[in-house]
Amino acid sequence: MTYRTMPKVELHTHLEGCAPPSFIRGLAAEKSIDISGIFNADGTYAYRDFDHFLKVYEAACTTLQGPQDFYRLVKAVLEESASHGVVYQEAFVSPDFCGGGDVAAWRDYVAAMEAAAAEAEAEFNITLKAIVTCIRHFGPDAAKPTALCAAETFGDFITGFGMAGGELAGRPGDFAYAFDQAREAGMPLTCHAGEWGGPDMVADTLRDLKVQRIGHGINAIKDPALLEQMAEAGTVLEVCPGSNVFLKASGGWAQHPIQRLRDAGVKVTVSTDDPPFFGTTMTHEFEMLAKTFGWGDEDFNDVNQNALAAAFCDDETRTKIAKRLENR
Ligand SMILES: [Zn+2]
Repeated sequence: MTYRTMPKVELHTHLEGCAPPSFIRGLAAEKSIDISGIFNADGTYAYRDFDHFLKVYEAACTTLQGPQDFYRLVKAVLEESASHGVVYQEAFVSPDFCGGGDVAAWRDYVAAMEAAAAEAEAEFNITLKAIVTCIRHFGPDAAKPTALCAAETFGDFITGFGMAGGELAGRPGDFAYAFDQAREAGMPLTCHAGEWGGPDMVADTLRDLKVQRIGHGINAIKDPALLEQMAEAGTVLEVCPGSNVFLKASGGWAQHPIQRLRDAGVKVTVSTDDPPFFGTTMTHEFEMLAKTFGWGDEDFNDVNQNALAAAFCDDETRTKIAKRLENR
């Protein structure tokens, strides 16, 4: 079995951030939208740093203009993920980019994405669940209608709520209203924290937003007491090493804390975040983890099992995916 064909469970991806550049270029050409400035000469996405990345990301998203485009996006993304052995994926989706936070418009997008996911499951043998995210740098007021969209469509396909965007905008507690709304609807929760912010950001997120999972969370490594608390509570980290190395949230693969987090008893999982933006794939992540930390079958199985246990899906799906992991 190769790193590419090993089965993988991936919890932290942004749907639009998984868009193959060729797919976005194709849409832009169809619609005569000039976004040539966001591509390098070799066709990859071009940007300078994290803030610029967010701008390029939003420019790429301008090509995605209706439910039908998101239907095509889901198919393109899942075909690519499945080709890297991903058997179960969770993707963040944003009503802010799908109907501007209007619930009726959002329902049409969800229906299109869910239909595409069902077709992709039949064609590529991969399961997708979606997590609605509010966008942190849009502010707490924008997060409220987003949480309402999430609660209104919570079900078999939309299975969780979270927050993405610029981590240093405001404090976690500013967004408590939106997270409370989602929690009261019964939704499981995750939030980006500790990628750019310090361990205090992770601690405040756990305390004020009461999430089960943290997106990234790598800077928790700087606070041994927090690590102990997370290990005890069973907090799961959605770690994206390739993303961290690419954006310089970590000094490099050798300096990346993923193994030290595991050694501290924290449950970690492995994901790609926005793979074509960061020049990575799940195959590449596994290869680099093996090369850098000597990970083997047992380690990869461990992170897959952590991810499956923490997945925001129904038990039937969990059982089905567990069987696919057993038959590796
Ligand atoms: Zn992310």
